[in-house]
Amino acid sequence: MHVEENVPLAPLTTIGIGGPARFFFRATDVDELREALEWAREENLRVFILGGGSNLLISDAGFDGLVIQLDLRGITVESEDAGHVMVKAAASEPWDPFVAYAVEHGWAGVECLSGIPGSTGATPIQNVGAYGQDVSETIARVETYDRVLRIVVWFTNWDCRFGYRSSLFKNYERDRYVVLSVTFRLRRGGSATIRYPELQKFVDERGVSADDLMGVRDAVIAIRKRKGMVIDPADPDTRSDGSFFMNPVITAAQYEEFAQRAPQAPHFPSGDEVKLSAAWLIEHAGFGKGFVHGNVGLSSKHSLAVINRGGGTAAEVVELVRMIQEKVRETFGVEIHPEPNFIGFD
Ligand SMILES: Cc1cc2nc3c(=O)[nH]c(=O)nc-3n(C[C@H](O)[C@H](O)[C@H](O)COP(=O)(O)OP(=O)(O)OC[C@H]3O[C@@H](n4cnc5c(N)ncnc54)[C@H](O)[C@@H]3O)c2cc1C
Repeated sequence: MHVEENVPLAPLTTIGIGGPARFFFRATDVDELREALEWAREENLRVFILGGGSNLLISDAGFDGLVIQLDLRGITVESEDAGHVMVKAAASEPWDPFVAYAVEHGWAGVECLSGIPGSTGATPIQNVGAYGQDVSETIARVETYDRVLRIVVWFTNWDCRFGYRSSLFKNYERDRYVVLSVTFRLRRGGSATIRYPELQKFVDERGVSADDLMGVRDAVIAIRKRKGMVIDPADPDTRSDGSFFMNPVITAAQYEEFAQRAPQAPHFPSGDEVKLSAAWLIEHAGFGKGFVHGNVGLSSKHSLAVINRGGGTAAEVVELVRMIQEKVRETFGVEIHPEPNFIGFD
């Protein structure tokens, strides 16, 4: 087992921030993963599973334990019938090429999730979603390694307890399961899910039909690019974690109180509750697009994205995030919570 020491983590993240991993190991199969976890157990080390680093804020001190990056590849069709295909992607398959592969085969169900960085194995963790679609709609099974029982365990969709940017893996049993593969049930020859008004308008204007999965994928990518939400080394607004804050969901009673302060604020039904726009709250609390805080700031294209302007530190990001949270709370009486995972901050 070749464990590296003192490996810089910032280059392995999309925001480009964070100190080193004390120990680092790349696992190419489940036995190597198991071996690495056993070693960490013997050495009494904490473990962090790193995917594509697109939803992380790693502390400036780094991670004082073992970082394991999986290198599990392969896409396999498990079964198909007239209407559906069951397709399994290993955890380290990059997400967007997997979406492209599905779209090229005429398999519907993930096309609105085009242009999102990261690995397929990370998608169930926060129930990745965008433009009116999320992975909980198509995930059939998740194969994991259970770090407590030390065996491989399969989850059905229902077991994953998916919610808005949440799942069993993120919210209830954090760090217990390492995702090895994800099986999606996609619709053969199906049409695209066009629920999101902005996407609907964009495709209508260009005459793209919902049956044209590739056209819808291209539309989603074009919309995302305008917002700096597709990684582009030439665009500093994409040196980020994507949206840094989740849209807050409040009760109907809380909404009544909120509406007295901000009757014009956009709001959407979310079950029995009300979802607010974090971007609107942030901008109206005084943090507009392009806001600067030292070497970090907000994207000039999207007020939800915290960016590294060059030489930024995790300490600066944390300061900015606290400033925004406090001002939103003070102005609107609403809590907004970060979406990325904070690593190495204790
Ligand atoms: C420009 C940009 C746009 C984005 N747009 C969106 C968007 O539209 N919608 C959206 O939902 N997200 C979006 N994101 C966030 C991010 O891309 C997704 O959350 C993605 O799924 C994270 O994948 P990753 O492989 O990079 O995970 P990482 O950032 O490496 O890890 C994230 C978390 O998942 C855990 N994890 C990763 N792999 C595994 C595994 N195999 N087993 C167990 N745990 C694992 C990690 O331990 C960590 O807790 C965006 C990010 C960027 C930079």
